[in-house]
Amino acid sequence: MRYKIAIIGGGLAGCAAAWCLSRQGHHVTIFEKGTEIASGASGNERGMINPRFYKFFNKEASFYAAGFKAVLKAAEELSQTHSLDFEQCGALHLITDETKKDRYSEMIKNWGWPEEEMRIVSSEKASEIAGTDIPAEALYLATSAQISPKKLCIAYSEQADIRLNTAIESIEPISDGGWYLDGERFDKAILANAYHIPQLMPEVELQTVRGQMALAKATSCSKTMKCNIHYGGYISAPMNGYHGVGASFQPWSKDVDVKKDDNRYILNKLAEFLPHISESIELEQERASLRTTNKHKFPEFGEVKPGLYVSTAHGSHGLVTSLQAAIEIAKFITTSAKA
Ligand SMILES: Cc1cc2nc3c(=O)[nH]c(=O)nc-3n(C[C@H](O)[C@H](O)[C@H](O)COP(=O)(O)OP(=O)(O)OC[C@H]3O[C@@H](n4cnc5c(N)ncnc54)[C@H](O)[C@@H]3O)c2cc1C
Repeated sequence: MRYKIAIIGGGLAGCAAAWCLSRQGHHVTIFEKGTEIASGASGNERGMINPRFYKFFNKEASFYAAGFKAVLKAAEELSQTHSLDFEQCGALHLITDETKKDRYSEMIKNWGWPEEEMRIVSSEKASEIAGTDIPAEALYLATSAQISPKKLCIAYSEQADIRLNTAIESIEPISDGGWYLDGERFDKAILANAYHIPQLMPEVELQTVRGQMALAKATSCSKTMKCNIHYGGYISAPMNGYHGVGASFQPWSKDVDVKKDDNRYILNKLAEFLPHISESIELEQERASLRTTNKHKFPEFGEVKPGLYVSTAHGSHGLVTSLQAAIEIAKFITTSAKA
């Protein structure tokens, strides 16, 4: 059965769902209150693709691992026809304390990924991989990548009808299982409007974490970098002559204005581990927005009422989790179509 499906929110969560459902032949409409797709947290020009790291390969870890592989596959496929600024350059996650060392060592044992994909490397080896001096041992994820989240959203949503400048203000159930969105009928609806969901469904409890990131022109010192480097912050390998550099993390603020203080924070963090790079670059094209999270610090997705689904709380790993949530939601919808 082909459904008429409404998605509220044109960020990674909504666009990934649109991609999965359009591919199954459903008719998808995205409602986005902003003037363009990816108006919220998903509008950054640069994002890092990494799973979240768990010691054990538990349910949560397997969700992140599946999402990581799924988004790499999707990006590979979509970059055949779209410019996504996608590069599978690998990532080094510096081991800056004993807790990290323990977590990464256990993770390598428990996740069972091949050594060529995930291993701990010495600071000498890390420097060779990175193409710049790395002061510590690191976890090396050879298949990690960088991408433009904004361009990915545009590519994901290409097959959907998109209604911009349209804020949905009410959703009402219909007795046959469908939903009215501001009076228009749909068979199914997906709430993918991040921390705004409680305005439509007050029982969903969410929090926000403000963050700012920036681009920095590659310099003679930094342009040798060959992979993304994470140290509590991150700097990407140069792409189109620019690094992505991030990010601040402020649960206390809902302000999305760009702040000079955040630039200082981002550069100071970089200076702790890569002072030679920090001294050589200048931040520009800064962008601030709000991440969405919840008390479980884990994405919230699935059917919440008959025919009504949510996908939110994608935190700091939305590139990975939004697609895995979309895959799961598309499965629920397909299963209900067959039943
Ligand atoms: C500084 C920063 C750096 C980050 N870096 C990374 C990274 O490197 N890797 C990574 O994986 N993740 C990263 N993230 C996290 C990632 O950006 C988010 O997890 C992801 O963008 C969340 O997507 P979303 O679709 O849930 O939310 P959003 O992108 O915020 O989308 C929600 C959309 O809903 C729309 N909307 C709201 N209410 C309505 C309504 N009533 N009707 C219609 N539309 C509505 C909004 O306008 C918005 O466009 C970063 C986040 C920040 C802030």
